[in-house]
Amino acid sequence: MDAVNSSQLISTVGYRGRLAPSPTGYLHLGHAQTFWTAFKRCLEQKGTLTLRNEDLDQSRVKPEFIRAMHEDLRWLGIDWQEGPDVGGSFAPYVQTMRTQWYREVVDLLIARGVVYSCCCSRKDILRAAAAPHIEDEGPLYPGTCRARDLSCHENCTLRFRVPDGEVIEFNDVRMGLQRWVAGMDFGDFVLRRGDGVYSYQLAATADDHAMRITEVVRGADLLCSTARQILIYRALGWTPPVFYHCPLVLDDQGRRLAKRHDSFSLRQFRSEGRTPEEIRNLCLAS
Ligand code: GLU
Repeated sequence: MDAVNSSQLISTVGYRGRLAPSPTGYLHLGHAQTFWTAFKRCLEQKGTLTLRNEDLDQSRVKPEFIRAMHEDLRWLGIDWQEGPDVGGSFAPYVQTMRTQWYREVVDLLIARGVVYSCCCSRKDILRAAAAPHIEDEGPLYPGTCRARDLSCHENCTLRFRVPDGEVIEFNDVRMGLQRWVAGMDFGDFVLRRGDGVYSYQLAATADDHAMRITEVVRGADLLCSTARQILIYRALGWTPPVFYHCPLVLDDQGRRLAKRHDSFSLRQFRSEGRTPEEIRNLCLAS
């Protein structure tokens, strides 16, 4: 099973974790919880922590958010050994600077015969650069363009053809055994938009592999994305990392915190005079 190979990976390169924020808003309590967990787990295992700026969704990225994410993470007490501000052996740590690598990975997937070009709806396609948190999970792509070849490859969306019926099982470190079925729980997903922007699924997988990440800590709303990403690892014969999905932090109406929740942002807590320790305790409590 995947998890066995992943442990072998850890014993070869040591624990390597990552923080992968998207600077499309201010970080909130949900991010704090995930990133604090990632930091603590890495510290406990005497590992190396990488900060990766996931800035592919350029329509929403702002320089101010990039600055704030570095500042807020440091304020919280998180420290990383590799990242855009400190360098490291796997630089660059900014996704918009890594497109050559994404192109190579898509070419590898094309060579494996799992990619087709698709001319479906703009809305569907625009969504692809951002990680699909629960409320963003769209309907299953019906596979309309599956029979197309790659002749209009340059200006078309590229999709990953999921192996219908294939079971994806993995042992989440916190949540235990997870089971997904390709083609039922999710359909063919976007690897690259028609305008050339690579998707979250492709970029996160390509980078976690290239940066030798051994454990991915992320929110439980991304479980289904993890299943998709495991299919990319399988198609390429790569060893996936271990996965640890954090519980979701909800607002008082039971909705997952999103960047629209300004009152839960770390900036706001700071301006109210809350201390990093108080926020860390809130993270542990949620
Ligand atoms: N950049 C993604 C987000 O902020 C991170 C997802 C992941 O950890 O892979 O939602």
